[in-house]
Amino acid sequence: MGKPRCWAQVTLSDGRQKQCTKAPPAGTHYCVEHHQFYVRRTDTYKKATLEMEALDDAFVSIGDTHVEGLGQEDLAYVAEIARTYLEWLDRAVKKREEHHQQFFTQVDHAHRDYLEILKYRRDQAFKYLYRVESREMELFDEDWD
Ligand SMILES: [Zn+2]
Repeated sequence: MGKPRCWAQVTLSDGRQKQCTKAPPAGTHYCVEHHQFYVRRTDTYKKATLEMEALDDAFVSIGDTHVEGLGQEDLAYVAEIARTYLEWLDRAVKKREEHHQQFFTQVDHAHRDYLEILKYRRDQAFKYLYRVESREMELFDEDWD
C-alpha cells in the first residue's frame, strides 16, 4: 500500500483527468485545498436544490392545469413558476454532476439515484414548459388576427 492520496480528480490541460497527488490530512479523503473546494461546491448545489424545493409545491399545483385553455394572465403566472423552477432544477443537476465527477471517483449509488430522479423531474418540467410556450405562441398569434 502506497501513501494515501487525495481523492479529488484534477483536469489536465489536454482534458484528461487524474487523481490529485497531494496527501490528505490523516483520517480525511481530500487534501486541504480540495477539501475547501468540496465544501464550497457542495454548498452550491445544495443551495440550488433548496431554491428548487421551495418551488416544488407551486410547481406541482400548476402541474394539473389545462395550460391549453389558459388566458394571458394565468399563463404568465404558470410560465413564471415553471421557468424559475426549471432554472434552479437545471442548476442543481449540473452542479451536482460537476461535483460528483470531481469528487467521487467511485460510483455512489445513492447519489446517482438521486441525480436520476432530478433528471426525470427536469424532463417533466421541460415538457410542461413546452406546453406553456406553445400556448404563449398561440395567444400571440391570436393577437395579430
Ligand atoms: Zn487534492
